[in-house]
Amino acid sequence: MKNYVMVVDDDEFVRDALVKQITALGAHRVVAAADGHDAMQKLLGQGPFDLIFVDLQMPGSDGIEFLRSLAQRGDSTDLILTSGLDRKTLKTAESLAQAYALNVLGVLEKPIRSSAISRLLSKPAGKRASTKVAHPELSIGELSDALESGRLIPHYQPKVCALSGAPRSVEALARLRIPGRGLVMPEQFIPTAERCDLIDALTYTISAQAFADMAHWAARGVCPDMEINISAASLDDTDLPDRMLELAEQHLIEPSRVTFEMTESALIGSVAKTLDTLTRLRLKGFHLAGDDFGTRYSTFAQLKLLPLTELKVDISFVSRAVADPEARAIVESCLGLAQRFGLTTVAEGVEDEATAILMREMGANLLQGYWFSKPLSAQDLQTWWLDRCKPR
Ligand code: C2E
Ligand code: CA
Ligand code: CA
Repeated sequence: MKNYVMVVDDDEFVRDALVKQITALGAHRVVAAADGHDAMQKLLGQGPFDLIFVDLQMPGSDGIEFLRSLAQRGDSTDLILTSGLDRKTLKTAESLAQAYALNVLGVLEKPIRSSAISRLLSKPAGKRASTKVAHPELSIGELSDALESGRLIPHYQPKVCALSGAPRSVEALARLRIPGRGLVMPEQFIPTAERCDLIDALTYTISAQAFADMAHWAARGVCPDMEINISAASLDDTDLPDRMLELAEQHLIEPSRVTFEMTESALIGSVAKTLDTLTRLRLKGFHLAGDDFGTRYSTFAQLKLLPLTELKVDISFVSRAVADPEARAIVESCLGLAQRFGLTTVAEGVEDEATAILMREMGANLLQGYWFSKPLSAQDLQTWWLDRCKPR
């Protein structure tokens, strides 16, 4: 149990009961506040706290206003949201708090049981609903320097067959090695690359290294298929299919072993050019996957219009499917729809065994996620793959 806790709830009875429960669970000190305004005063005067329980519905300053004030302060206290309202409203409030980059451990419906509190607190840090710490984006200068000096490298995350667990392919995920900053993640440079016309150069750099690594691994008996992310912005480039084919041929890679994943709605730009590019990629033998399916970046229209061969159900639904019936229903309908279109299905974001089992039972063809492996360097991927393929 966290040592120093604040409970914010306007209902005296609920507040007292929660203070008793939290004390019984082992907290050293619990402070109570009657609304958002009172809570902010106490935070300023008696904080910082290790954990704050926030009731959403309060007269005076409500829970959402309190969350907004926390966000404005850049507060990183762990939060648990509570409410007597329906679960959907609680979930929406959780998403809002995450959009504010607050550290939400989870939500609790009233009446609150001690076992539910314990369960939330025992979640490992990596699996909490909290959002990532926001890192600054790279500047255009930093990015083009890094591209020119060969500091852009792919890491590879394996995908395994849902039924047999056998590894099938890897997804190339871009990383930048910046001296003094270690490995910089895509969220810090893909938006800059897209905005500043460096995304095509980035895609070719990643693809060239991915094909070279495939050739290098093949000589060591490691033969994964390859998935490469393509931004919607690049699909306006009708030369892409020819350039990709040329690149694949240079490394003696069969196009049928390569799948391009579209990371955003491919229909954002010019529809004619996008369809031209995608159709020609298919004609050359490459495969095409719809990424992040089920989110706002994907539409059902894509399924009908685009020559897709694979569909990846978004992490946000897969990772919650075991605990959240609504997320599970979305995964189920995405998988069902993909199957009716004859597409290979991938569940991405499989973080534990229960999710792996559920996805297999729900009929996903391939699984990807931290449960199997995090993205790895080319050398580590080779070791992982050989180890995984060893007879046991
Ligand atoms: P994405 O294509 O949806 O890739 C999946 C992201 O989820 C990766 O993050 C991966 O490391 C992470 N992930 C994988 N398994 C799990 C899991 O079990 N749990 C959780 N919580 N996360 C998991 P990463 O590498 O930071 O990439 C983020 C996004 O950046 C990618 O999302 C993709 O949209 C974009 N990106 C990465 N490389 C490239 C690239 O070469 N080109 C383009 N255009 N976009 C790229
Ligand atoms: Ca992807
Ligand atoms: Ca995805």
